[in-house]
Formats: sequence, structure tokens, C-alpha cells
Amino acid sequence: MKRIACFCIPAHGHTNPMLPVAAALVKRGNAVRFYSFDAFAERIRATGAEYVSCDAFLPELNEKQKAGIMKVSTTEMSIQDIRTTLAMNGFLERELTDFRPDVIFTDSVCFWGKLNAWKFGIPMVVSTSTFAFNQLSSTYMKHSPGEMADMIAGLPRISRELRTLEPYGYHVKNTLSLVQSDNSTDSVVYTSARFQPFVESFSGNYAFVGPSVFSREEPRKNPAKPLVYIALGTVINDRPDFYARCLEALRDMDVEVIISCGQSMDPKSLGELPANAQVFPRVNQLEVLARASVFITHCGMNSVSESLWMAAPMALYPQTAEQIAVARRVREVGAGLPLADDSAEGIRRTVRELLEKPSFAEAARACSEDFRACSGPEGAAAFIESAPHTAPEPEMTAELRRANLAFQVVLRVAIALAVLIAGLAGLKPIWLWGVIAGVTAGIAVGPLGKKFLTKQYERIVRKKKKEPGTGA
Ligand code: UDP
Repeated sequence: MKRIACFCIPAHGHTNPMLPVAAALVKRGNAVRFYSFDAFAERIRATGAEYVSCDAFLPELNEKQKAGIMKVSTTEMSIQDIRTTLAMNGFLERELTDFRPDVIFTDSVCFWGKLNAWKFGIPMVVSTSTFAFNQLSSTYMKHSPGEMADMIAGLPRISRELRTLEPYGYHVKNTLSLVQSDNSTDSVVYTSARFQPFVESFSGNYAFVGPSVFSREEPRKNPAKPLVYIALGTVINDRPDFYARCLEALRDMDVEVIISCGQSMDPKSLGELPANAQVFPRVNQLEVLARASVFITHCGMNSVSESLWMAAPMALYPQTAEQIAVARRVREVGAGLPLADDSAEGIRRTVRELLEKPSFAEAARACSEDFRACSGPEGAAAFIESAPHTAPEPEMTAELRRANLAFQVVLRVAIALAVLIAGLAGLKPIWLWGVIAGVTAGIAVGPLGKKFLTKQYERIVRKKKKEPGTGA
């Protein structure tokens, strides 16, 4: 029996996958305390874990800060996370001294969970509610100019806030080290090894346990009257314009329609509904997905995992960089199509294609089978109980590092040559050519470097498959 302290931020997408794991930990005889917020209290208690309320420590937000959080501003969320950590300092010190956890199981962006594990030297397992991201898999994310500007402009503000933690014994190198895991961080990831991009570049410290859901229910579709389910998650879901276009698109099709519109808008604001449609503020998503033949989704990781678990192909409508990454992977495995465009005509066309071409449903079914063969919440619980883990770096890491170094050297030599040639050709002023070559290389190095690393990864994986004894 181990004592396990769980920590999460107040967000459904992050809390949901931790709940079946908490239930499994309790069932296996561990003492589990879950530090969370009152909106989740009932569901946490239902797992058998002891719920500890942290509502008193959430900072009061002004309208601008609230808007930042709702727009998923990395800067605003990081700053609030740091302030919450400070507010909880004394409380968590007493709690951890009293409970003396053997392991801390914390969401990957819950700073107070991670920082207290480091401060008190308690083994930590991170709950990763999206893919595992490293230098390779983060190439799947496409940040919008707005997101990039938010991150760059926010860095000095975050660094200033981080310094306020120092006097309390929280030592952080930089923001990245706080939000990103590396190959030595024990991490539970709620997808399969097959679905995780660049899986071979992750060490055994990552446990790919598959979707963390309570339901073992099997999919049960109705081909005679397919169900189209529409939901945009729990954060940015206040989109009456989009729901209205979905209703318009699907009203004359021989399908049933269910929309989960979220709790911040009134379903009645959509006016009189077509005879084939129903709108709810919230549904039991897994139950609906079991019957759904198409899911129009914002591509939150949980929604996508649940959809594949229930073998429902998807119309992909991602809004944030992470959702774009998840949508790309769904496309790659053939289980979804991006919305042609978000007009009524675009929505109708995409839904028709998903219903008419059997390959989408077949790919979703293959994912469902793959997910159901994973170790699930039980596997996650076993991994947490036996933390800390020590797994070697994947063999390819050294090879990738060498290739990256060679790439950087070649790039620098190319810059030097360009400047030399400009000098020999008598082009003046020579420093200007140096600057031009440097800036051009600076702009190109990111995308080129990523492409180069991806190609190297693919080459190493191909080589490995050909090696005798690897079954290829
Ligand atoms: N969800 C639900 N009922 C609804 C809408 C959403 O239970 O009507 C749940 C859904 O099952 C999923 C979570 O809310 O587990 C949404 O998480 P996701 O990562 O997809 O998106 P986020 O809300 O974080 O954007």
C-alpha cells in the first residue's frame, strides 16, 4: 500500500483522465488524496479517493485575466499557476508533512504539484493529458501568430513571477523546464504507442496506457439512422454561430443530431430546432459517442481519444496549436477529415464523405481495438505505485544528437562560406552580407532543423526495423 497525492488544475480536460486512474489506485489498496476544486469534488469522491478542496487558493481574476484564460493564453495560465503555487505554499507544506506521500501524481501543467514534488524530493509521476511532446513530436503543433506573440511577449513576465517562488524553496531553471517533461520524467500518457507521434524517441519513463475512461461499453451504431454528434469541449465552446450552421447543414439529411453546446450559452438561443436535432448544455459524451457515426470535434485530446475508443470517425475543427497536433494525427491514421470549411455547405460535405466512405469508420475501429488492448487506468496505477522508474535513453537519442550537431555545423560553415564568397566577389559592405546570411539562416534553421530531425528519426526507425531479430 502506497500513499499517493494527486494534483490537478481546475479543468475538465486535465481532470477527467486522472479520475479512472485514481479509482484504480484506490481499488489496488492505496491511500489516495486528491487535491482539486469543488466543481470536481463529487466525481473525485466517487473514485474512492479523499478529496481535498483547494478553492480557497485560486486567485481572484479580473475580466482581462479571465478572457486570457478562456483564450488559452499560455502566459496568463502560467502566471495564475505560479500565483496559486505561492498561495498554497504553507497549506501544502502542512498537508505533505501530515500525509507523507510516497508518490505525487500531478497534471503536467499543475505547477504546485510539480514544484512541491521537487521541493520535498517526493517521486513524481506526471499526468499528460495530450500527446507526449518532445523536440520531434512538437513539430505537430502549429502555433498561430497570436499564440506565438503571446508566448514571446509573456516570457519576461513569467520569468519575473518565477523569481517570486525562489524564497520559498521552489527552484526553477526556466518556464520550459516547468511545463515540459523529458526522458527522465515519469509520465503517464493517455494514448497508445501506435497513436503517439515519434513514439520511438521516448524512453521507458513514459507509460502509454491508452485512453483513461470508465466505460468498457462497446460501440453500437445505427447505420439506418446515423447519429452526428457535435461538441467543442469545455473551454472554448461558446459558439452559437457554429452550432447554428451545423443545424442548417444537417437538417435535411437522414441523420440524428446531438449538440453539446456547453454551459455558458442557453440552448434556447439557437431558436426552433430541426425535427432531427437535440441540443444539451452537457451530455455523457462516451455514451453519445458509442452511438455516433460522426463526431464534429474541436480535437481536444480527451474528445478524440473517447471518439476513437467508441470507433466514431471525426470531422476535425481544431482551434489551438495542441488541437491542430491531435487533428493531424487523426488524419494520419485515416479516422477523420478536416472540416472542408465551417460554412453549412462545408460541414454537410465533410459529414457526407465521412458517412459514405467506409475507410474512415474502419480506421476508427482499428484505433478502438488498439486502445482497448492498452493497459488503461490499471496500467497507469501500477506504473505510479512503482515510481520512480529508471529507464535508459532510447538508443536513437545519441544518434539524433549527433545528426543535429552535424546539421548545426554545416549551417554555420555555409554562412561563413556565403560571407567569404561575398567578400571575394568584392560585394561591400561585407558586414551587411554577414548580417543577411545570419538572418536568413536564423529564419530557416527552425523549419529546416525540424525537417532534418524528422527525416533522421524516420531513417533510424527504418534501419532498426531491418535489423535481424526485430521481426521486420
Ligand atoms: N465532456 C463531457 N460532456 C460534454 C462535453 C464534454 O463529458 O457534454 C467531457 C469529454 O468527455 C472530455 C472533456 O469533457 O473528457 C473535454 O476534454 P477535451 O480534452 O476534449 O477538451 P477541453 O475541454 O480540454 O478543450
